[in-house]
Amino acid sequence: MSNAGVVADLHRERYGKKAEDVIYTEEVCPLCNTRVDEFGYCACGGQAD
Ligand SMILES: [Zn+2]
Repeated sequence: MSNAGVVADLHRERYGKKAEDVIYTEEVCPLCNTRVDEFGYCACGGQAD
């Protein structure tokens, strides 16, 4: 069992998909200036809205 596999499984469990499969929206967080993903989360971990 590799650590990479465990991390991928945890991410999939938490977000329902692999990290590389997360879709980013065109929205940009006003706080950290990064794109917001499909769940409304950005780099600062806040919910942008
Ligand atoms: Zn942010």
